[in-house]
Amino acid sequence: MNKVPVLVTGGAGYIGSHAVLALLDAGWVVAVIDDLSNGTRDVVPPGVGFYEGNIAARALVERVFDEHGIRAIMHFAGSIVVPESVEKPLKYYSNNTLASHALISAAVDAGVKHILFSSTAATYGVPARMPIEEDDPKVPINPYGASKLMTERMLADASAAYPFNFGALRYFNVAGADPQGRTGQIGRGSTHLIKIAAEAAVGKRDHVAVFGTDYPTPDGTCVRDYVHVSDLADAHVAALEWLVEHPGENLVMNCGYGQGLSVLEVLDAVDRINGVPVRRVMAGRRAGDPPELVAANSRLLATLDWRPKHADIDRIVGDALQWERTLLDRASSPTG
Ligand code: UDP
Repeated sequence: MNKVPVLVTGGAGYIGSHAVLALLDAGWVVAVIDDLSNGTRDVVPPGVGFYEGNIAARALVERVFDEHGIRAIMHFAGSIVVPESVEKPLKYYSNNTLASHALISAAVDAGVKHILFSSTAATYGVPARMPIEEDDPKVPINPYGASKLMTERMLADASAAYPFNFGALRYFNVAGADPQGRTGQIGRGSTHLIKIAAEAAVGKRDHVAVFGTDYPTPDGTCVRDYVHVSDLADAHVAALEWLVEHPGENLVMNCGYGQGLSVLEVLDAVDRINGVPVRRVMAGRRAGDPPELVAANSRLLATLDWRPKHADIDRIVGDALQWERTLLDRASSPTG
């Protein structure tokens, strides 16, 4: 297979940095653009062409295409916090939809052949049935999901008109960290459950608030499909290989394990792995949270040369905790 040079946007961020490692491990050549609004330069391995800046900056993007002969893009850069998207919708349409438009336009003009896009289960809204199939209705209930769905649509329309193919991977709940400890979630203003619980486990927080205990679920707390970030990164590499091998065809698929866990089950795993229980404070529902989100993943398993390696909540939590301790050590070291 022709391993063309790949641009990873958001490659200094959480999922992007894991994808960079997975690409390098699989022998691809990579360049990164990241504005460092939510990422950090030191998780990008030496030897990777790194450009600090915004993907909407046309001149920068053209320069990177040119200097690296880019023929494929993994597009992670964007804003990802659901409650923030409700408060600042225009930021989300700008950073996610408009910036993607700029990137896709530049890519079309430069003859980029493959675009793999970070999409989300938030495109489905409150699903009518579980697990969620890719062709189920997509009625997002927040600007984050809407901004991502608009980009999917833009890619579908543009790929029909111009000579490139695209993949959109709809992530469920991504968590954990590189098992080798090379990268993880930095977390400026963390909001995600496992990250918050890991911060509480290492003493950065006093407690974890459980948002809602009266949902129509077995224990009353929300159910999610948690997927290890390194499995997700490997799925991206497999998806890129598929795009290279299937010109003219596109790929839209859920990325999850197809198994739901409640908030309390996740916190039980954190206590189990940590050895010391994390304080839980029962709280009211958080705005915009659907009770249950679980992926149907048969398309993923049937299409890609990919099998999960870390599909176990204890592994996910263990790697998240290990990374959180690394961050703590770095912060307390004289050079940290
Ligand atoms: N959650 C919680 N306490 C927290 C953070 C999250 O109870 O401090 C719950 C949240 O309400 C949801 C689930 O954990 O039911 C997963 O939330 P997260 O923010 O991790 O991901 P989301 O599903 O919103 O993308």
